[in-house]
Amino acid sequence: MRFGFDIDDTLINLREHAFHIYNKKLNQNVSLEIFRELKTLEIHEAFGLDKEQGSQMWNSLLEEVYFTDCPAFEGAIEFVNKLVQDGHEVFYITSRPAKYCPNTRDWVVQKGFPVINSHFYCGMQDHEKIKIIKELQLDYYFDDKPAVLETLSDVPTKVFVKDQSYNQHVNIPRVKSWVDFKF
Ligand SMILES: [Mg+2]
Repeated sequence: MRFGFDIDDTLINLREHAFHIYNKKLNQNVSLEIFRELKTLEIHEAFGLDKEQGSQMWNSLLEEVYFTDCPAFEGAIEFVNKLVQDGHEVFYITSRPAKYCPNTRDWVVQKGFPVINSHFYCGMQDHEKIKIIKELQLDYYFDDKPAVLETLSDVPTKVFVKDQSYNQHVNIPRVKSWVDFKF
């Protein structure tokens, strides 16, 4: 079988990692409870920032958010490695900006995810993921982002949403945890 994965907030807990960095940089102490109730993918609201301040903050901290010690979700590294051991093919499809792609691939490898270079797709827009998913003829694809998932309603690929506070309205099968997920 051919499996495709988004990376940020599907396999790794990037948004929460960014949340901790924001707290430090802004000298705030916003609680995880507030963070976990956010209904937006963007996290600036929790810090009292408007959209523009939020995107400035995000862009100024992007390298720190991407390339420090962001944890994988529990069980994610083991899950993907087990797929490869069982003879499946694994593809990564991330819309991180193109200039960060080589470092992102290295970071994902260092983290312990199994990566074949030609199976690492990076730098596309959210709405362009569907083209890659179709071309690769994936059997399964996993993502967290409503804007991406909404484009995938007509693909033959079996699509799963990684459970997050901001995607509760998405009505497709959910991965609550990688530890006990069965496909
Ligand atoms: Mg994502």
